[in-house]
Amino acid sequence: MDNEILMYEDITENIIAIKVNHSYKENMTEDELYDITRGYWKIDIKKAKHADYAISVYEGIIKEVYKIEKWLPAELIRRTTLPDAEVRKGRYGFDGKVAEKEIRDKYIDKSIASLYKRGEANPIKYFFPIRNCVPDKNELTNKGERCNNVVIEIVQEIEEEIRSLNVEGESKKAIINVRVNQGIFRDLLLKRYNRCCLCRVENRTLLIASHIKPWIESEPKEKLDVDNGFLMCPNHDRLFDKGYITFDNDGNIMISDRLTEIDKVFLNVNCRMHIELTERNKRYLKFHRENIFDR
Ligand SMILES: [Zn+2]
Repeated sequence: MDNEILMYEDITENIIAIKVNHSYKENMTEDELYDITRGYWKIDIKKAKHADYAISVYEGIIKEVYKIEKWLPAELIRRTTLPDAEVRKGRYGFDGKVAEKEIRDKYIDKSIASLYKRGEANPIKYFFPIRNCVPDKNELTNKGERCNNVVIEIVQEIEEEIRSLNVEGESKKAIINVRVNQGIFRDLLLKRYNRCCLCRVENRTLLIASHIKPWIESEPKEKLDVDNGFLMCPNHDRLFDKGYITFDNDGNIMISDRLTEIDKVFLNVNCRMHIELTERNKRYLKFHRENIFDR
């Protein structure tokens, strides 16, 4: 059976995904599946408490969705279908119930295998969509704060990985681009734009999430800010990234003198091109004009 594949952008709830590969069996009862999913897990309890739902994942396929009522230390959890195992300190489990139909229909039997990194061993994975997070302009609620934390965690995760690979310069930049284009930043841009911001290329697998102010230069909060990006075809992404083109505050293209008339024709840039800008794009564009664009 081919299972429908979910992308980051399809996950719109705050979810903790729990891999049950070791304990799962075909034809388990509902109660048995619930018990192997709910615990006990070695988790960061503060982070887990942000999840509204837990999903049970077997071989990359979502088997069940639970609405989490509360997390409890393992000592206080009673799993009726499993023998009382010796409980190790610092582990948690959740109490909950099978989620509402609408949510189950959205996730059950879908594959999230492609959202795991190769060899990702941790049975626990969090999906906290940033758009649940982006606070209204003047909102200073817990939600805004919690979401900034989530963004910063994702940024840290990428940076740690890059540090561990011990690469610099262009290779480092290449890896950042890969990570960013596998993740949430690209999802957000795909949601905002459905084709290249400059031309009509609309093939989703070709479209690239292009930072306006580069990742390396950006503050943590700026790194995954949707206003710090354009969605571009490979051609325009390259030209923008290398500083051959930029935009003024009205969105009109500025083209470097380093491109000949022939280059411009074959690279599909001309002085009549225009890009739609948000107010917040402009701040990042100023950086691009002053630091990346090479007249
Ligand atoms: Zn384009």
